[in-house]
Amino acid sequence: MSFRTIIEPFTIKSVEPIRMTTKDERNRALIKAQYNLFKIPSRMVLIDLLTDSGTGAMSSEQWAAIMRGDESYAGSTSFERLESTVRELFGFSHIIPTHQGRAAERILFSTTCKKGDIIPNNTHFDTTRGNIEFLGAEAVDLVIPEGLEPRNPHPFKGNMDILKLKNLIKKRGKDNIPLCLLTITNNSGGGQPVSMQNIRDVRAVLDPHNIPLYLDAARFAENAYFIKLREKGYEEVSVKEIIHEMMSFADGCTVSAKKDGLVNIGGFLCTNNDLLAQKKKDLLILTEGFPTYGGLAGRDIEAMEVGLREVMNEDYLKYRLTETQYLGEHLAEMGYHTIQPPGGHAIYIDAKATLEHISPLNYPGQALAVELYKTGGIRSCEIGSVMFGKVEPKTKREEPAAMELLRLALPRRTHTQSHIDYVLEVAKEVLDRKKEIKGLKITKQTTFLRHFTASFEPLLS
Ligand SMILES: *Cc1c(COP(=O)(O)O)cnc(C)c1O
Repeated sequence: MSFRTIIEPFTIKSVEPIRMTTKDERNRALIKAQYNLFKIPSRMVLIDLLTDSGTGAMSSEQWAAIMRGDESYAGSTSFERLESTVRELFGFSHIIPTHQGRAAERILFSTTCKKGDIIPNNTHFDTTRGNIEFLGAEAVDLVIPEGLEPRNPHPFKGNMDILKLKNLIKKRGKDNIPLCLLTITNNSGGGQPVSMQNIRDVRAVLDPHNIPLYLDAARFAENAYFIKLREKGYEEVSVKEIIHEMMSFADGCTVSAKKDGLVNIGGFLCTNNDLLAQKKKDLLILTEGFPTYGGLAGRDIEAMEVGLREVMNEDYLKYRLTETQYLGEHLAEMGYHTIQPPGGHAIYIDAKATLEHISPLNYPGQALAVELYKTGGIRSCEIGSVMFGKVEPKTKREEPAAMELLRLALPRRTHTQSHIDYVLEVAKEVLDRKKEIKGLKITKQTTFLRHFTASFEPLLS
């Protein structure tokens, strides 16, 4: 056994300064932003843990590849490289580039779904659900019950409930289910992985009904590494082989490359269905671009191709999951209630349990987010009643969300351990005077996605 520190497996070649602000400056920024952290300018943020999407650092090899980008409108060699890498890694026959994940989703669902259809998933990501509902179809979440219990240490909390899937098919009929999705890792459930056995089982349920399986594979490499760490029989299998095996059970996938693609923008859609691929490419030309660039510059495609190969590096993945675990374990040790076990890309604090004196409709998650920013310039994201609370239009009464969470998402290859230690110190300071933290009320909001623009006022008592 080695007890050495798991270090960042890279050195820093290019730096971006971050600016310390004073408490006064942060207080003024909060008042100006009406206590909504989406409205704080990034130059006023010291450590930005708002999201891990498109916020990571590229490698020197990716920057070198940028220069190689072939900007030809049609038949670009950059696309040929991407196509060959994705085929080798994932094994699908058609690779369709898109500017990001949601564009791949829109094209997949527009060519497969119609009004009244049902799409099962472990848990639909918000853009996925949005694209499905926009077409008049229904997005159904079938994650295992353990996936909804914050303190249950189940190793694969992203798994789909096989019995519920069987029942859904029996009850609603296979003709109304054009495809089934599995999100790896399960983002909305806290970045929790799906086991290989579960992917295999889902496939076996779908097969007799000829229902295709697509993977929402934004974090395919993190999911594969969790399988290597936690699933019996995969200890000695390479991440590359695990990825290939996961994909072998699917008919296609959608990928936001802003996560495990290690780029700031990009995505793609894969399928083995020739007829569908043609339909998708026709739609792509209409809204995204020619099928060899799909709304991306040739240089973006080059960076993505290199990123997809780099993300399989097991030293990188070990460091990545260790960084998240380090943050999660220390927060839990000092007394924060967190979702267990730590996921791949983020730590979720249970704000309702941590700030039990603040009622859900005074937004404990938002109160904690504001406090972390005020105390140390750390930006995080509320995932609770601000984001998912429902206001009944007639009575104006508000229903709180199921959970009041605060997400600390870790951008890839961006922070060092001392940044994380700083986050922990600030978190400790906040926890030590948690009794003084007050809730907030919303003073202005929109009907849809209110969390992005809502205005708040702190309560005085
Ligand atoms: C980010 C994400 C998406 C959407 O991708 P964008 O690149 O943000 O459009 C879809 N599904 C999952 C699981 C994601 O994490």
